[in-house]
Amino acid sequence: QKIRVGVIFGGQSGEHEVSIHSARSVMENLNSEKYDILPIGISKQGVWHVGLSSFEELGAEIPDSLRKRILVGSTAVPSENGNFLPDSSLRSVDVIIPVLHGPHGEDGTVQGLFELLDVAYVGAGVLASAVGMDKAMMKSAFAHAGLPQCKYKVYLRHHWEQNSESILSDIERELGFPCFVKPANLGSSVGISKAKDRESLILAMREAARYDRKIVVEEAVNAREIEVAVLGNDEPRASVAGEIVPKADFYDYNAKYVNGTSELIIPAELTDQKMSEVRKLALQAYRAIDGSGLSRVDFFLERETGRLLVNEINTFPGFTVYSMYPKLWEATGLSYENLLDELIGLALERHREKN
Ligand code: ATP
Ligand code: MG
Ligand code: MG
Ligand code: MG
Repeated sequence: QKIRVGVIFGGQSGEHEVSIHSARSVMENLNSEKYDILPIGISKQGVWHVGLSSFEELGAEIPDSLRKRILVGSTAVPSENGNFLPDSSLRSVDVIIPVLHGPHGEDGTVQGLFELLDVAYVGAGVLASAVGMDKAMMKSAFAHAGLPQCKYKVYLRHHWEQNSESILSDIERELGFPCFVKPANLGSSVGISKAKDRESLILAMREAARYDRKIVVEEAVNAREIEVAVLGNDEPRASVAGEIVPKADFYDYNAKYVNGTSELIIPAELTDQKMSEVRKLALQAYRAIDGSGLSRVDFFLERETGRLLVNEINTFPGFTVYSMYPKLWEATGLSYENLLDELIGLALERHREKN
């Protein structure tokens, strides 16, 4: 009897396309001896589509290798508000892989649905997903765990709109220029800008405020970007570290997905000491948010001081065969296919232990 795996992809976040690419890699690499696949696509409008047609409904192609492996699923019947939750399909599988990035995917909301349905799922639970997605909460959790971070401030859009002058002065005084302005709850660098003076700071605040009611502003650090993959539940393991060399001013959306010329260096060229330090910090960051399943922890290695700072954690990082997370595991001796086996095992384990 094969394990029935529901793979959810697409979604309403700005990372819809990335998610489709990630999910296709996942489906193509699930061992066909062990798993049957039920694809579940969520359109940009939030409509759920189940089964073979889900690819077309999202305007994506079905890889030929997958056609014969796909379980027949029910078709979507939109409910009154247009959002169909295919709860019978979700209950019909043994485990779900929510290959979703960003809000409504990586932030605990869809994980809450799986909890209510009592179905096993890959990755972080409700709490870790929510804390990991919200950069302000994430930073509080990291600070409490004593992890090194860059200087930052958090502002509500409401206060920005009421009192922008005093917020601008506060940022200038506390953080200075350049600084990074980010919506608290997003990924793929959407809504993030680097401000170099008061004028660009105003534009950056307005831009971030379009996406979120909470805005995080950070001092800009001059640093190398180092990433570590973490895998596990109660005894997580850290991969070797990798480095990203963005071919842009910073690792913005374009550098990530449009002109994909950014370079991944795996393993990162680090001294043995830095390598073990960053892997240790990655595990601490993972525990600080009570992670499970997987996460990618992103760091800054300051050029001048050699200090490592935690930038952020991503509880469902990019998962294409070209993505950092699976490549880091490959370099650590775990193939993409075996990585999926482990993740599914971890999901089933966590589900068993809860019940
Ligand atoms: P992801 O796609 O990894 O989830 P994200 O949208 O959560 O990304 P961040 O990782 O916080 O965004 O920032 C995106 C990029 O912006 C970083 O990879 C880095 O290049 C740059 N950056 C962010 N914050 C800073 C900072 N404080 N100093 C220097 N560069 C920064
Ligand atoms: Mg992120
Ligand atoms: Mg992300
Ligand atoms: Mg990042």
